[in-house]
Amino acid sequence: MSSKRLETVKLTARFKLDGDVDSSLFETYKAIVNELLDYAHSKGITSFKRLRSEKYYELRQRYPNLPSHFIYTACQMACSIYKSFRKLKRKGKAKSDKPKFKRDMIMLDDHLFKLDLDGWNVRLATTIERIKLKLLHGEYHEKFRDRKVCQAWLVKKDDSVYLNVVFSKSIEIRDCKDVVGVDVNENNVTIATNRGFITIETKEKVIRMAYFLKRRKIQSKIRCRRVKSKLLAKYRGRERNRVLDIYHKVANEIAKVALETNSAIALEDLTGIRDKINHSKELNGRLHRWSFRKFQQILEYKAKLNGIEVVYVNPVKTSSLCPICGSKLSPNGRRLLKCRCGLVADRDVIGSWNVMLRGLKSLKIDVGSSVPPESPSMNPETGRLSATNGSKDMKVAESRNGSSQMHLWRNNSVWSSRPSIGVFQPT
Ligand SMILES: [Zn+2]
Repeated sequence: MSSKRLETVKLTARFKLDGDVDSSLFETYKAIVNELLDYAHSKGITSFKRLRSEKYYELRQRYPNLPSHFIYTACQMACSIYKSFRKLKRKGKAKSDKPKFKRDMIMLDDHLFKLDLDGWNVRLATTIERIKLKLLHGEYHEKFRDRKVCQAWLVKKDDSVYLNVVFSKSIEIRDCKDVVGVDVNENNVTIATNRGFITIETKEKVIRMAYFLKRRKIQSKIRCRRVKSKLLAKYRGRERNRVLDIYHKVANEIAKVALETNSAIALEDLTGIRDKINHSKELNGRLHRWSFRKFQQILEYKAKLNGIEVVYVNPVKTSSLCPICGSKLSPNGRRLLKCRCGLVADRDVIGSWNVMLRGLKSLKIDVGSSVPPESPSMNPETGRLSATNGSKDMKVAESRNGSSQMHLWRNNSVWSSRPSIGVFQPT
């Protein structure tokens, strides 16, 4: 009845190379990219085809020892760098008058490298000969064995050379019967499922604040500029890794719930929101946040890898309209919102609930979600779902009245009992 649907999932893996790549290769490549950038900039060329046809043969003659595909990928690099430079320039954010490529980075296509994940090595084309280098690998890299290699970058950093490889995998997307609605907030991620609502605490705001204070202290206490910038970079990296680690754990939990409930995952479409003048108030504070989109990307990737469908829905007014009757909600205390139909619920619950409903609508899933006329007023009690550190199990702990917190609120396709909130702490 249903046809197979395949999606391609891409992921970049990073390998440290055991051995060195002659730095003259990086220097030559950088010079070529910069020459191409100057040329593209002076003539306003954004088309790869045009850049290649006007510069490729000339560069080949001037660099006879360099395998020709380096010049080919340099054209691709120059083109994309020039395009993003123009974009920044248009927005007034360009740091200089002309684009410049400063990194020790080489783009490789399939003529320039050959990966062998059984022997854990890579063959690389260089100016003189093909060299074979060992890939330093760990458990993390095992999963890439069955994937297709797309493209790679050779990157020189400090004293080591890394190979960043983009892998792709074709995944069959499963048919779904329901939707998990995801609402991302500053301190938590709340999900609406056919088993109830779950609030997963991320404590991101707390973490970011702690690092902000730490950085401010460094700014004021340390005089030496070099030491200062080194320390600042160190803590920025730590903050980022801590937040990303939480995102991965939360995304795993949500994917697990979606698998168990045979659901698709619905997320708010936050792209383009920045450009709309009439954005809703609740989205204003989020605009500059890299995090929301980053979390969504991680979740989308993990979902697709598990064959879970992902759908993006319109985010407008997801936290201000009643999910039952559609009326405008009014505040009722600090966290709660109420409706004239009698609904009283936490604002994050409302958000995820509306996202779920929009997801169901967009996927045309009919769960027979008729609302009983006497919909009980919701008084979300706070329960606790906690995960032991490092364990992947989400354990349902006892609540105050001793019953499990995962109440069914939409049982047998009918809205049944009131939703409750679980709190899950990933750390
Ligand atoms: Zn209502």
